[in-house]
Amino acid sequence: MTDRLMVMDDEAEYAAFVAKVGEGLGYEVRTTDDPGQFRRWLAEWRPSHIALDLAMPQVDGIEMLRYLASQASRARILIMSGFDARVVDAARRLGIERGLDIIGSLQKPIRAKELRAVLDENRSGSTEVNRESLDHALAIGEIVPFYQPKVDLRSWRPIGFEALARWQHGQRGTISPEEFVPLAETSGQIDRLTETVTTRALVQSRQWEEDGMAVNLAINLSAHNLDDEDLADRIETLCWATGAKKEHITFEVTETAAMADPVRGLDILTRLRIKGFKLSIDDFGTGYSSLVLLRRLPFSELKIDRSFVCDCDRSTEARVIVKTMVDLAHNLGMSVVGEGVETDDVAQVLAELGCDSGQGYAIARPMEAQQVPAWLARWGTGGETHA
Ligand code: C2E
Ligand code: MG
Ligand code: MG
Repeated sequence: MTDRLMVMDDEAEYAAFVAKVGEGLGYEVRTTDDPGQFRRWLAEWRPSHIALDLAMPQVDGIEMLRYLASQASRARILIMSGFDARVVDAARRLGIERGLDIIGSLQKPIRAKELRAVLDENRSGSTEVNRESLDHALAIGEIVPFYQPKVDLRSWRPIGFEALARWQHGQRGTISPEEFVPLAETSGQIDRLTETVTTRALVQSRQWEEDGMAVNLAINLSAHNLDDEDLADRIETLCWATGAKKEHITFEVTETAAMADPVRGLDILTRLRIKGFKLSIDDFGTGYSSLVLLRRLPFSELKIDRSFVCDCDRSTEARVIVKTMVDLAHNLGMSVVGEGVETDDVAQVLAELGCDSGQGYAIARPMEAQQVPAWLARWGTGGETHA
């Protein structure tokens, strides 16, 4: 994703001048002098940068700064004005006090060289994954879920998708959650990350439902999300707000996460279940407390970790372990998913062992939301592609 610069200036020639400099530096640019348009683009187009004129006939720049602060905007803001330096500076300080990221203030007439320097220096060109760049990525919508199908291993029918977070970084391309989820967990950003991914996934779920594709969606929760006693309520509110159906949503939690604080974990997960969501225990077999946990927590699905799945076509031990997990889950009334199905042989063995469904590269890699309908159409209802 390239940097996006929104220019708001009522003087058309200034707006065009800023746009030209921005485009020359590789920015995608939109210009407007209409406050309504400004608000819509802020929400929908999500500019990473804003060049704002302080004095316009319809609205003043200070008001726009206040609006940006009320939206908790993380865009990098450049203030421009024909007022004297003291006014421009006061506006800059006001913006900073409101928590905005003011990257500079330029007094009109603006020189191309100065403008180019500010815009060039403040490109989000940094490729480092850190608290600040993640914060920015969350603000401008670079963190999005990809979707990986789970299919029934007997009929090969798709039964749902797992939402897996991806960072679509302007310079580095797609960054794996293994690089930024642990960071979010230690930097205090995991609640925001979960909320971002959950909101997007719920909106998507509702959209697919409207398009006649009622698919189940699984969303991952981190151990750190289970510190928050309001989690179940907040997720329920998001469901109402987006119109997604709770019975289509499953939350995946690892054993380790569920055990971090067993009492609070039990409280939050039980409440999610009571509200109508499903729960899945992820990476099963890699934690320490598997059996105790299965008894205590209201899981509806068990996902066998891919370390057991990947060689179950070649290793007798792996097969015995998988079979034991499948029986255990079924005896407790849960369905079983094998994760990390990389070959058709593995899928075949899992099916023979009684595993209900599979997820893995042999079926499909995680894909962008817009690729899902075509994948579903190609895959059909099952049998045609894989018998
Ligand atoms: P997970 O929840 O166990 O997700 C399964 C991972 O296995 C995904 O990696 C998926 O791309 C990968 N995978 C799927 N099929 C295969 C296969 O056939 N072979 C192999 N080798 N791998 C396969 P991904 O997307 O990199 O996610 C890694 C982990 O990051 C996830 O493991 C999950 O724990 C975490 N994660 C991803 N998205 C989120 C999120 O939105 N929130 C939180 N808290 N954690 C997330
Ligand atoms: Mg998962
Ligand atoms: Mg897993």
